Amino acid sequence: MYQANEQRYQKMVYNRVGDSGLKLSAIGLGLWNNFGSVDAYATQKAIVHQAFDLGITYFDLANNYGPEPGSAETNFGKMLATDLKPYRDELVIASKAGYVMWPGPYGNWGSRKSIIASADQSLRRTGLDYFDIFYSHRADPQTNPEETALALDQLVRSGKTLYVGLSNYSGAQIKVMAGIFKDLHTPFIIDQPRYNLLNRQIETDVLPELAAEQKAAVSFSSLCQGLLTAKYLHGIPTDSRAMKATIPFLHPAQVEQTLGTIKRLNDVAANRHQSLAQMALAWNLRQPAIASVLIGASRPEQVVANVAALQNLKFSAEELQAIDDILAA
Ligand code: NDP
Repeated sequence: MYQANEQRYQKMVYNRVGDSGLKLSAIGLGLWNNFGSVDAYATQKAIVHQAFDLGITYFDLANNYGPEPGSAETNFGKMLATDLKPYRDELVIASKAGYVMWPGPYGNWGSRKSIIASADQSLRRTGLDYFDIFYSHRADPQTNPEETALALDQLVRSGKTLYVGLSNYSGAQIKVMAGIFKDLHTPFIIDQPRYNLLNRQIETDVLPELAAEQKAAVSFSSLCQGLLTAKYLHGIPTDSRAMKATIPFLHPAQVEQTLGTIKRLNDVAANRHQSLAQMALAWNLRQPAIASVLIGASRPEQVVANVAALQNLKFSAEELQAIDDILAA
C-alpha cells in the first residue's frame, strides 16, 4: 500500500495562479506520453508516486493522452482508486477536450456537444467526481467562442470542474474568451501554452495578455520533449523519445538540427552548476506569469533531477544575455 512521503511539502515551491486563490506546484507532471496502454504500469506508478512524494500536486491529463487515446486517464484513474484515493484533496487534476477523440463530427474541437460529452467521458475514465481544472485544448475556428466558453461554464455550474483553462490559444483569442468568462463569472484562471528555450513565441503575444488579465500560465513541453536535456549530447539513445515508435512527435532530424544550440546552452547550465534540464525549467519559471512548468518523464529519476531545478531559480543579467545570444545565433 502506497504511503506518501511525510516530507513532501518541505521543498516544493507553490505559486499562486494569477489572481485566483489556487496555488500550483512550480513543477507539474504531464501524462501525455509514457502513461498509455503501451507503457509499463509499474513504471507509471513509480513516476507518479515519485512526483507526489516530492510535492508535485499538479497532474495534467487530456481525453486523448495515451496511446491508446484515453488510456492515460484510465491508468491514472486506477492509481486514484487505489494508491492516491486518500490524497484526492491534495491533488490538482486537470483534463482537456479539443483534439480528436472519437469518430464523427462530435469527437473533436470546441462545440458544446463535444466538450460536455468529452468531459463526461474523462470523468468516467478517471473515476473522478470532478476535475480541478478543465481546459479547452485548442480554439475552434468553426465554433463561436461564446459557445465554447458557455460549455466550460456549464461544467463549472454542474460541478464537473472547479476552474477552467485554455490551451494553444493566441493572445487575441485569450482576450476574447477572458471577456466572455468575466461576464459569466466563470473561474477562468489559467492558460497552457508551449514554452521553452527553443519556442519563445508566447513572450510577445500570450504572456502580455495574461499579465493584463491577471491570469497565469502553465507551460507545456518545457524541455522541448527532451531536447533541452543532456540526453542527446552524445548521440540518440535507443530508448529515448526521438527513437520511440509509439511517440511520433520527436524525430532524430530535430535532434540533429538543434544539437549545436543545445551544446552551447549546456555550457551555460554547467557554469550555473545545473543540468541543462534544470536550467531550462528555471528559465521558464523566471516569467512572472508562469505559475508552473509541466514536465514529462519516462522514469522516476527524471522527476527527481527536474525538481532539483528549484534549488537555483535566479539568473544574472549576464546569464540571460548569454542565453539570448545563443538563441539568436
Ligand atoms: P517535456 O518537454 O518535459 O519532455 C518530456 C521528455 O523529456 C520525457 O518523456 C523524457 O523523454 C525527457 N526527459 C524529461 N526529463 C529528463 C531528464 N531530467 N533527463 C533526460 N531526459 C528527460 O514534456 P512533454 O513534451 O512530454 O510535455 C509535458 C506535458 O505537457 C505533457 O505530458 C502534457 O501534460 C502537456 N502537453 C500539453 C500540450 C497541449 O497541447 N496542451 C501539448 C504537449 C504537452 P525520454 O522518453 O526520451 O526519456
